[in-house]
Amino acid sequence: MKKSINQKSHADITSACMKESDMADIDLEFLREELLQCRRCGICRDAVYAAKGFDGICPVWKHTSGFETSFMRGKIQVALALLDGTLEKTEENASSLYQCTLCGNCNQICPAEFHPAQALEQVREVLNEIPNEVRDSIAERITRVGNPYSDDNLEKMEWLQALGFDVAEQADVLYYVGCTAGMRIPKIAIDAAKILNAAPGEFAVLRDEPCCGSVMLRTGKVNEAETMAKRLEDAIRSTGAKKVVVSCAGCLKTLRMDYPERFGIELPEVLHIVEYADELIRNGKIEPKPLSSPTRLTYHDPCHIGREMGIYDSPRHVLESIPGIELVEMETNRNTAICCGAGGGLRSFDSDTAKKIGSARVRDAEDTGAEKIVSACPFCEHNLKAGTELIGSNIDVVDVVDLLARALE
Ligand code: SF4
Ligand code: SF4
Repeated sequence: MKKSINQKSHADITSACMKESDMADIDLEFLREELLQCRRCGICRDAVYAAKGFDGICPVWKHTSGFETSFMRGKIQVALALLDGTLEKTEENASSLYQCTLCGNCNQICPAEFHPAQALEQVREVLNEIPNEVRDSIAERITRVGNPYSDDNLEKMEWLQALGFDVAEQADVLYYVGCTAGMRIPKIAIDAAKILNAAPGEFAVLRDEPCCGSVMLRTGKVNEAETMAKRLEDAIRSTGAKKVVVSCAGCLKTLRMDYPERFGIELPEVLHIVEYADELIRNGKIEPKPLSSPTRLTYHDPCHIGREMGIYDSPRHVLESIPGIELVEMETNRNTAICCGAGGGLRSFDSDTAKKIGSARVRDAEDTGAEKIVSACPFCEHNLKAGTELIGSNIDVVDVVDLLARALE
């Protein structure tokens, strides 16, 4: 029987790869055995979805030269050769390991008894002694200043000044803003704050918020990620929060799944704002009003919210609860959704390929006749906007919180 993504969880794989005595060490022999499960069938390139009429399952393969190492089968052979020492451990030889968004689409269809994308993440960790300038400089910046953008970390909260209301420093609900919303797309932070302000009770934010370390985890800098995780855990506990609400797919997976699995850190309940807003709407705590004009839109499932966390209904319920919104689906949606192109560090390792993947996702959205493509992750929004610029598309790229905040005005 074909395995489903949930039959073997990320937790099973991660914990099986860890020695019981030391969570930071990976059992290399187990990881090697996992990689050897690959049957070299090549289904992860395009075969299954092509049979369904979709054009290409691996977005990196589709938007690069199409070499064997551009999709998972080749990456696994490179990983095995580097681990076994038959391939010299150089930055160039390891570069294909970073040409992957870790979107998990190949996990969905791989017939072998392992999850290749998660195994690749482990490979990046055990081979992190191989130099990689991009990876190392991101990790250095996060460790030094608390964010990957090298900006003064206090700038992450400058958007608070645009709110017109005060936000607490201690409350039952903590909004964890994240670096990309705080420093690159503050409109997402402002809209999320407006939604939280419309709900009963106070919410807080951290004034000097440390990065969650998501990009470090995805790129193999796990010790550095653990240092950030402990820093963030202390900061969150100091607020007395009972719930942590995030507005980024990467922050969600990191805080809710990776912290307990990788570092044994149990935070208070962690929710994405689409889940929290869905709860508030269902309980009658907030009531969206009609938008000024009807809008046809399509929802892009971020990989870390959809395939990784299984959250497909909440964002759709929130959007459908806003009178005047017509939601249409792209051909690939929910667990078959094609990645926006930004994940797994690809936007930093190879921004041209990342943007091409983003533009293909924009074309998918255009094919639905939607006026807007809506996501629930600042990183997706950032890359999808780059995709629209690349192809001169007029489609509007917005976040779920943008529409909901407007419907609550
Ligand atoms: S990773 Fe899975 S789908 Fe891809 S070649 Fe190996 S067995 Fe086949
Ligand atoms: S995780 Fe996504 S980008 Fe990476 S090899 Fe698999 S399908 Fe391709």
